[in-house]
Amino acid sequence: MTIADKQKTAVFVDLAFDYLSSGYKSEPKEYNFEEYQAPELTAATSIKEDTLEQIYSEITTCKNCILGNTRKNAVPGEGVSNPLVMVIGEGPGADEDRLGRPFVGKAGQLLDKMLSSINLSRTTNCYIANVVKCRPPDNRDPNHIEASACKQFLQRQIIILKPKIILLVGNVALQNLLDPKAKVTSIRGKFMEYKTGDLTFPLLVTYHPSALLHNEDYKRPAWEDLKLLKSKIDSL
Ligand code: URA
Repeated sequence: MTIADKQKTAVFVDLAFDYLSSGYKSEPKEYNFEEYQAPELTAATSIKEDTLEQIYSEITTCKNCILGNTRKNAVPGEGVSNPLVMVIGEGPGADEDRLGRPFVGKAGQLLDKMLSSINLSRTTNCYIANVVKCRPPDNRDPNHIEASACKQFLQRQIIILKPKIILLVGNVALQNLLDPKAKVTSIRGKFMEYKTGDLTFPLLVTYHPSALLHNEDYKRPAWEDLKLLKSKIDSL
């Protein structure tokens, strides 16, 4: 059994236990969100021969959670292979599900504008991905089991891409990567660190572009965050 197979088996056993202990195929109402942590990829378990292509092919056939049954297309992510900035959102919406590409709806168009205001784009120096790779029905937030089932894909993408900076957009990305109880409003505006395996990345959190579309008040702080990101890039 390869290291990659062992990693997948560990995640599967963990998830199987969660499903069984919370009622098979039902929403895990009694689920203890605070205690569960999917196994981290560590230096010892990181997959040396891993590639983005390998991850994409696993994602597009993945049935590790129920989202694999309802998606039209999986949305692995897209961008350059040596990104300055890796943007991480929540999960695909209807447009992304239809096209198999991240952030292509209204929120995505705003994200592209935000990035371009500081000379970033998915075609030149960014990579864009999500916490979950398949659309949660009715645009609900991904639940903890779905996010945990997908976590290894995002971690492997981060390890392969080695972005200079990670930008988390929105509470779902923040809570799944950094702190399950944190809120963008209280944690934004300063650089932090994200550690996975032996790697450490500078990380900034800001509002999700769809939050900006719904609430004008977030625009100014989001712009402050973009300026902070730009000054960090300039200092690299
Ligand atoms: N919102 C997200 O968080 N990700 C997408 O890909 C699209 C909308």
